[in-house]
Amino acid sequence: MELKKYFDESSRYIMNTYGRYPIVLRKGRGMKVWSSDGKEYLDFVAGVAVNILGHCHPRVVVAIQKQAQRLIHVSNYYYIEPQIKLAKLLVENSFADKVFFCNSGAEANEAAIKLARKYAKDQGNPDCFEIITALNSFHGRTLAALTATGQEKFQKGFEPLVPGFKYVPFNDINALRKTLTDNICAVLLEPIQGEGGVNLPDQNYFKQVRDLCDEYNILLILDEVQTGMGRTGKLFAYEHFDIKPDIMTIAKGLGGGVPIGAMLATDKVANAFQPGNHASTFGGNPLVCAAAVATIETLLEDGFLLDQCNRMNIYFIEKLEGLRSKFPWLIKDIRGKGLLLGMELTQEGDSIVKACLEKGVLINCTTGNVLRFIPPLIVHRKEIDQLVDILNGVFLKIS
Ligand SMILES: *Cc1c(COP(=O)(O)O)cnc(C)c1O
Repeated sequence: MELKKYFDESSRYIMNTYGRYPIVLRKGRGMKVWSSDGKEYLDFVAGVAVNILGHCHPRVVVAIQKQAQRLIHVSNYYYIEPQIKLAKLLVENSFADKVFFCNSGAEANEAAIKLARKYAKDQGNPDCFEIITALNSFHGRTLAALTATGQEKFQKGFEPLVPGFKYVPFNDINALRKTLTDNICAVLLEPIQGEGGVNLPDQNYFKQVRDLCDEYNILLILDEVQTGMGRTGKLFAYEHFDIKPDIMTIAKGLGGGVPIGAMLATDKVANAFQPGNHASTFGGNPLVCAAAVATIETLLEDGFLLDQCNRMNIYFIEKLEGLRSKFPWLIKDIRGKGLLLGMELTQEGDSIVKACLEKGVLINCTTGNVLRFIPPLIVHRKEIDQLVDILNGVFLKIS
């Protein structure tokens, strides 16, 4: 099909919720994707931190093929083999004792919010339902997740929002302490803010948050939808901060590209959910769980990919710092952990994203002026070199 026809039909039949770049992606392998006109791109977006093993990883493809031949979907009225296997893998490799499966990050956060409220209600305080979240956070687009998201620009037009949310600046322990009351049931935070501009907390922030939560008998919910599944160089980002949450949500990287989310919790908290309290028709279905099992098994084998992620973090940051010293008037900051990296610019980044697209590399820009690099964890030096060369050329042009 001609490009124009794709664009016409897309705008004719699909709701106008995305600003899209003018390419049609049709095929992917590893770090690369190809558009309908045969052009090759290096993918540093990875479906927004989803394709942790790259595109069409053979183990994920085979797992999906095999499972599709055996059983694609059955109801959660029955036991599901790959779901049990996946839950066991997640529990054995995290703080958690129990898992609830759903289909996206927002849904995982909805489940976490419901569980935190139910847990608090069960303790006997009917007014204890408030949740504190951070300014500049991102927790998804469904109504409660949108309310949890501490950014007005996403909420505007959708009021009334869900009652019971309060916001504090991220990485400000005093602000959090001042906001605590007997009616707070949980604090919900991203370990590193992703959509909010790749914002890292101080190393001791989460330890202080954990202590405050313990002192006030408040649950700590970590939204690891973006930071989980090896993205930051550990399987889960909380491991960097030497703490454990009570509830954690994951999604993006979990299924290696298929839609799956999960909410994990300790037994103490998870017990607040009883049959009938929460459910999802598709949640944890055989097909997506088989893909997620293959994804986690590949990720954890020998710890190779996590090591690779950490090695590439050092190399990548070094290269980006090299750019910063060449273009100090344009690049304000380089930050991130693992392969969740941000480059804060002194100007809007969208024209740079477009210029990179033309040169054959996909990157993302968040909060207007932070270029975000979230490649598959299989990225190698030579691909980072290619990206940095292209960025260098683009920066020279706007100099
Ligand atoms: C992407 C994201 C979400 C929302 O996930 P969806 O699958 O789009 O619903 C929630 N929280 C964080 C931290 C995210 O990065």
